This record gives sequence, structure tokens and C-alpha cells, in this order.
Amino acid sequence: MNKKPRLAVDMDEVMADIIARFREWYSRDFQAELSAEALHGKHFADAVAPEHQPAMRAYPNAPGFFKDLPLMAGSQQVMRELVRHYEVFIVTAAMEFPNCFSDKFEWLQRHFPFLSWRHYVFCGDKSIIRADYLIDDNAYNFDGFSGEGLLFDAPHNAHETRYRRARGWQEVATLLLPDTVRLGHHSPGIPPTLSSR
Ligand SMILES: [Mg+2]
Repeated sequence: MNKKPRLAVDMDEVMADIIARFREWYSRDFQAELSAEALHGKHFADAVAPEHQPAMRAYPNAPGFFKDLPLMAGSQQVMRELVRHYEVFIVTAAMEFPNCFSDKFEWLQRHFPFLSWRHYVFCGDKSIIRADYLIDDNAYNFDGFSGEGLLFDAPHNAHETRYRRARGWQEVATLLLPDTVRLGHHSPGIPPTLSSR
């Protein structure tokens, strides 16, 4: 039997909706909302008023920022199929925010129980990763990557054109899964939220 291809998957803004947490805390602290237009082509901290930027940049270092993040629509269903066809590793640059370790670990255990902790890679620089594919919202993680980078669509990467783009998990399924198991067409029980992002 052929060895499965190896697939590395980023967490933040790919599996976990970190923008929802930024919006939640920004609204809590500044009683302000950010439109999709304001976020287009920008990271969250660059989309707010200059006087709010230090607080935005500090959020990911605050305890609890990564706790109980909402799931990106369709991520569980598509990952469940991907693990049947790929050797899947979760690859997150967790070292940037040391407070996040246990929150991220618990989150993965709760939402992706079909993935063993042996397939979690909490790292610093992702260039250490060797895989056939890497799904990530930050194109700089594809620098020096030996496989193919698949750019997961996010407001901040709207202007990036160098990589194949997946606009949500339904498109990940379209790009990486065989036709016969493509979600939304052949698998009953896939919720409509899968294609709603
Ligand atoms: Mg990310």
C-alpha cells in the first residue's frame, strides 16, 4: 500500500477563528466594530486606529486569548475526511505566544479527537516542517517550504497571488480530496455551514 502524502495544517485563521476573538475583545475594550472592508488586506492590528494598535498587538499574549476559539466552518468535517487520505499534522507557530500552549492543546483534543497528540507540532519557525502540502493563511510560511503551500483565504492575505487559494474548507476538500468523497456532494449529514464561509 502506498504511503499517504503528508499534509500540514495551520491552526489560527485556518482551523480556529481567531478574528472572532479579536473582534470580541476589541468590542469589549473599545466599544467599536470592524467591518470586513476595514480588514481587507490587513492584519487586525493594522486595521484599527493608531491609539488602539498597542492593545491589539498585546491581545495574543494575554491569558485566555486562544481559549475556546470558534471553529472555522467545515474544518471538522473536512479534516475527518483528510485524515483518511493524508498523514495530517497540525502545525502551529505556538512559540510566538507561550500562553497559548494548553489552550491550543485542549482545543485540539476537544474538537479533533480523531487526531492523536503525536500529530501536533507546536513550533517556532515552520521552515523546519517537511510535508507534501501546507495549508496556512500566512504566505511567509511557504518560504523555504519544500511541498506545495495552499493559501487559506483570510482578509489579511487578500492581495497575495503567488499560491493556490482555498476559500474555506469546502475548497480545501475540492483541492485535496478525491471526487468520490468530496463533501457536500456525496456525504450526507454535512451541514450547510460548510460552504457558508
Ligand atoms: Mg494562521
